[in-house]
Amino acid sequence: MSLINDIRFYEYRMMIEHSSAVDRLRLLLAEVRRERPAFRVFVLTGAGISRESGLATFRDAGGLWERYPIEEVATPEAYQRNPALVHKFYNLRRRDALAAEPNAAHRALHELGRALGERLTLVTQNVDDLHERAGSIDVVHMHGELRKLRCVGSGHVTEWARDADCDTRCPHCNSAVRPHIVWFGEIPMEMSRIERALDEADVFCAIGTSGTVYPAAGFISDFKRCGGVAIEVNPEPTGGPFDVRLVGPASTQVPLLVQELTRTAVE
Ligand SMILES: [Zn+2]
Repeated sequence: MSLINDIRFYEYRMMIEHSSAVDRLRLLLAEVRRERPAFRVFVLTGAGISRESGLATFRDAGGLWERYPIEEVATPEAYQRNPALVHKFYNLRRRDALAAEPNAAHRALHELGRALGERLTLVTQNVDDLHERAGSIDVVHMHGELRKLRCVGSGHVTEWARDADCDTRCPHCNSAVRPHIVWFGEIPMEMSRIERALDEADVFCAIGTSGTVYPAAGFISDFKRCGGVAIEVNPEPTGGPFDVRLVGPASTQVPLLVQELTRTAVE
């Protein structure tokens, strides 16, 4: 077979795989809708959705993370040892995040929130504010937020969109502040709310995050214990126990997913 034929065959196979995933999604959601018209949705987003807006993570080669090893900037010990360096690193990440723009996946999830209201729980591992800037409200940032600082004395959290340094003080008690970020070795935020939402959810969506590693892997096994439809959106399927896999970039697959989730008619 010639190379062109190989490519055509591959494209054809991808097309079949893709359309059958959407058909499957439609069928499973119709079932959920019949059983529970006020079904609840849990969405977990990860690095993949921000990467499409140009934001790199430590898993990507190159960029900031290569110049700043994790153990020197993203642990509590690092902050104790060299708070100036830690602030400098997060200043760069904050600037990057502020310069990035939300993409079609962020916007689609905002639409989903408007359609479902409190029936949607949107949890993100990302520390940027792209969900908020696309319009989403009440986003659960389990790994913290670049746009916030936390007082090391009182724990008070302050909105912060500029650079910070060792002279930046808590406006309430004048103590030093640290990035409001969950570092390696620290416990993620809002875990009890996340567990409750997983318990109540009928549909689980993992977007741009691996279904085989923490936290998505843990969340999906919790979710699967109660039954329900689990959906993965990723450029490469990651192998977790999902019922439907939408393979492709989040910016094209999430609008499609949201369209199916917000369908009102039962077919
Ligand atoms: Zn304080």
